[in-house]
Amino acid sequence: MKGQQTLSTMKKDTQIISAGRSKKWAPNTVNPGVTRASTVVFHNTDELKHATQNRGDKVMFYGRRGTDTTFAFQEAISEIEGYAGTAVYPCGTAAITGALLSFLKAGDHLLMVDTVYEPTRDFCDKMLANLGVTTTYYDPLIGAGIEELVQQNTKVIFTESPGSITMEVQDIPSIVAVAKKHNIITMLDNTWGTAVNFDASGFGIDVCVQAATKYVVGHSDVMLGTASTTEALWPTLREQSYLLGYCVSPDDIYLAARGLRTMSVRLKQHQQAALKIAKWIEARPEVDHLRHPAFPSNPGHEFFKRDFNGSNGLFSFVLNCGNRAAVNAMVNGMKYFKMGYSWGGFESLIMPTHDVNAIRSIKNWQADGPLIRLHIGLEDVEDLIADLAAGFERFNQALAD
Ligand SMILES: *Cc1c(COP(=O)(O)O)cnc(C)c1O
Repeated sequence: MKGQQTLSTMKKDTQIISAGRSKKWAPNTVNPGVTRASTVVFHNTDELKHATQNRGDKVMFYGRRGTDTTFAFQEAISEIEGYAGTAVYPCGTAAITGALLSFLKAGDHLLMVDTVYEPTRDFCDKMLANLGVTTTYYDPLIGAGIEELVQQNTKVIFTESPGSITMEVQDIPSIVAVAKKHNIITMLDNTWGTAVNFDASGFGIDVCVQAATKYVVGHSDVMLGTASTTEALWPTLREQSYLLGYCVSPDDIYLAARGLRTMSVRLKQHQQAALKIAKWIEARPEVDHLRHPAFPSNPGHEFFKRDFNGSNGLFSFVLNCGNRAAVNAMVNGMKYFKMGYSWGGFESLIMPTHDVNAIRSIKNWQADGPLIRLHIGLEDVEDLIADLAAGFERFNQALAD
């Protein structure tokens, strides 16, 4: 494992199986149960007082603050991520907005990676701007150079590595070092890395966000977000997120906790299949280069090698020719790869992007052909390659027509 080792001697795979399943949460069963509640009832004033005083510390008080189902899951994620506490949100986007709103106020400045997930960008431009928070977008490969962008009022540096769609890997340790020097809070959208492949807490990230919708849930049927943080920041994150009214149904939490137990084995399979398919794609004559962090053609590949434990099923590639009609011919006839935005489930996905510069502030994207993002699911690799091969044939046919 890369990053700082935790004190626990337990390996990550064992943690993923055992975290949040103590006798307190699951006295007689393997999995903690589903406790649904709006009202939590108290039988006397002592109970009422106890719940009120401990409502931030895994004691049931009111449904919005969660039930035992929530607390067990929060404990599991905190332990696996190596943080003091975890807030849960109805989706990954809510976790990002909740984390940002918990620590930013009018007059503050935010440094946001330019390759950020598009809804995060929209939140900065369309909502934080109205609240008096200014945002500067920085190059994902800026590294220690980010110090030049630090202002007197810079409160948060937000990272997402690899970047959305184009997959640039950031030099997180250099950015964290600058942030610590200037007393700035660092946040990471670690949805691609997950706790298995990128040790955010070990690298000194203050707030680590997961779109649990993706690999934690793993079955494309639940929306969920988590934000985990340090002892110092946990009371603020917890209470500010609570004030915003974010809460999650115990049924969704249950499904996420269930998905979590197989996350590591699923990731290994996604990774292995994606590496095979990426190699095959790289050799195709229509392909200019891969955007897969584990391949040298990916910007920031050296940071991936240095800092990550592995990859997963999500990567992109850039075509060296082609137009919308040819790409449409390719993606419209796929047998196994469906089009869909939310990845991380067991199924394969394909998604074309024609204008990368439209979703960037630094408009330096240059490519002769469109970009295609794939999520490699758990199907047989040979079937997936055959599907892609037929897709390339349709692409070439459309170009020739
Ligand atoms: C999907 C995703 C999100 C948002 O998660 P939702 O649960 O869909 O709101 C945020 N960040 C990244 C990197 C994502 O892939």
